Amino acid sequence: MGRSPAPLISVVVPMHNEGANITPFYERMTHVLEGTGCPYEIVCVNDGSRDDTLDRLVALHEQDDRIKVIDLSRNFGKEIALTAGLDYALGEVVVPIDADLQDPPELIHDLLAKWREGYDVVYATRLTREGESAPKKLTALLFYRVIQRISPTAIPPDTGDFRLMSRQVVEALRGVREHHRFMKGLFSWVGFKQTSIHYHREPRFAGQSSFNYWRLWNFAIEGITSFSIVPLQVASYAGFLIALLAILYAGYRVIVTLLYGNAVAGYPSLMVMISFLGGAQLMALGIIGEYIGRIYNESKHRPLYFVRTSFGMDENLTVLSRVVPRQLPQTLEYRN
Ligand code: UDP
Ligand code: MG
Repeated sequence: MGRSPAPLISVVVPMHNEGANITPFYERMTHVLEGTGCPYEIVCVNDGSRDDTLDRLVALHEQDDRIKVIDLSRNFGKEIALTAGLDYALGEVVVPIDADLQDPPELIHDLLAKWREGYDVVYATRLTREGESAPKKLTALLFYRVIQRISPTAIPPDTGDFRLMSRQVVEALRGVREHHRFMKGLFSWVGFKQTSIHYHREPRFAGQSSFNYWRLWNFAIEGITSFSIVPLQVASYAGFLIALLAILYAGYRVIVTLLYGNAVAGYPSLMVMISFLGGAQLMALGIIGEYIGRIYNESKHRPLYFVRTSFGMDENLTVLSRVVPRQLPQTLEYRN
């Protein structure tokens, strides 16, 4: 597919309590985007912030109409906020990025260069993560290793949402309306011609991360259950193994009884067995529950998000995505 020399670039930024980062982000991003010589828009999604994020965004929009603002009706979480931004972005290339300047905007030049070579997805893989605690780095490392092992979709390790996608990929993603969305996984799952570049992740400019360990844990479970059914299979293998051990143990008891007679013993081993099996069964049930809960949530077919107000957006689009998000993919014409 031919690549236009100056594609419209959409930068999509989910924002939750990022007031202190907005001005520095805007200045640095604008500088980079001006440097590309391409037309651009910055689609900011206010994800139920409780600080002055929205006010600052609206003020910026009034002074520069390339800043577009979507104000969600409440906090829906980063994955949904990003989805909303992708629904509204009009660009021929779309770049999701965090508002806290952890992903350096300057990389957009390199991402664009790869896109021009003919790639549809160019993701940015972190070589280092500065300003993050050792436990966070360790758990992140573990998580990426585990999910790579158990998911049939190859999810690139140490890669966030910062990447460049072609219009074709964004259209594909817009057709995916599942509620439990693990975006990093979906980005890979859609396929197309993908490549990566490497960078050093910077510390947060201001404010603090919205992700504490509990949220990260849930995020990890979301990722695993969205992209793997291995945990469900674990129960059957564990059950098989335990049954095998039980048979061996029964044989052993028979032999011991034949050789030494039947002394009534074994209360402790009985207790251990019962509680072990009880625990294992509850755990297996819990895992099944995680999946059933997700089936239940998906089956409700609720809209993914609601938009309270928007600034700089096409009104028709706003109304459409609010009422029938499923039909959105057809509403945008596809530009080559
Ligand atoms: N974010 C969001 N909704 C949320 C949590 C976070 O839109 O509920 C945004 C946040 O404003 C930032 C990006 O997602 O632009 C990444 O969040 P954060 O920096 O807190 O995560 P971390 O970099 O620590 O993984
Ligand atoms: Mg961050």
